[in-house]
Amino acid sequence: MSEVVAPGDVVGKEEEYLPGENVYVDDYGNLRAQVLGVVIRDNKEHVISVKPLKNSGVLLKLNDVVYGKVVAIPNDKVVVVKILSVENNGNRVPLKSNTTGLIPPSQLPNSRGSISDIVGIGDIIKARVISRGPPYTLTLKDAQLGVVYAICPRCGHALTWKGGELLRCPNCGIVVRRKVSLSEYWV
Ligand SMILES: [Zn+2]
Repeated sequence: MSEVVAPGDVVGKEEEYLPGENVYVDDYGNLRAQVLGVVIRDNKEHVISVKPLKNSGVLLKLNDVVYGKVVAIPNDKVVVVKILSVENNGNRVPLKSNTTGLIPPSQLPNSRGSISDIVGIGDIIKARVISRGPPYTLTLKDAQLGVVYAICPRCGHALTWKGGELLRCPNCGIVVRRKVSLSEYWV
């Protein structure tokens, strides 16, 4: 599993590693990521670096509605999404290459509890693009936007919609809370 970090996240300690590409040392000797990316540890040379997440040629437009998989939630703050497809006249058009989207805390619905009450890793979400150019900033702040498919954190079975913000596992019975899209849920 690759470790995805957001800018400012601690990736190591000065006494353990030398700062490599896209890594800086703060006043307390913490090595921190400069960019959103994947942590690369070179344990032979003791260098830690961050490889920026690639955003290839696909150009999404402002206000495009996209579908993507939640791949990481660094520090339980930013939601990192692998964008899979874009809506075009009611069709989901798959993207040919990896494109990353980010949902900052300000674009998540106000939550009473933890971020896991909104989205979970592995969930498929429907979101809207609110930035020009990669990495794309996404929002979930709309009733139509949210989780459209999720699997059970306990047993891996597809969760079914129970109404409102609740999803239930028909296999093991657990109920989880999510920000479910009001326009569609795939199971
Ligand atoms: Zn289950």
